[in-house]
Amino acid sequence: MGSKKKVGARVKMTLTCSECKRKNYTTIKNKKNSADKVELKKYCPHDRKHTVHKEGKI
Ligand SMILES: [Zn+2]
Repeated sequence: MGSKKKVGARVKMTLTCSECKRKNYTTIKNKKNSADKVELKKYCPHDRKHTVHKEGKI
C-alpha cells in the first residue's frame, strides 16, 4: 500500500444495476472527492425501470 504514483486521481467506474447485475453505465470518479461508494438511482434498460446502481471497477 502507498506505492502508487500520484497519477490517475480520476478513475473510470461502472455503475452496476443492483437487480440484474448489468453494467449499464460508466462514470469518471475523482478519488479525492468521493471516497465512499456511490449508489445512484438510474434507469436500467433491461429492467425497464429505475433501479439502484452501485459503482464497481471496470
Ligand atoms: Zn437492471
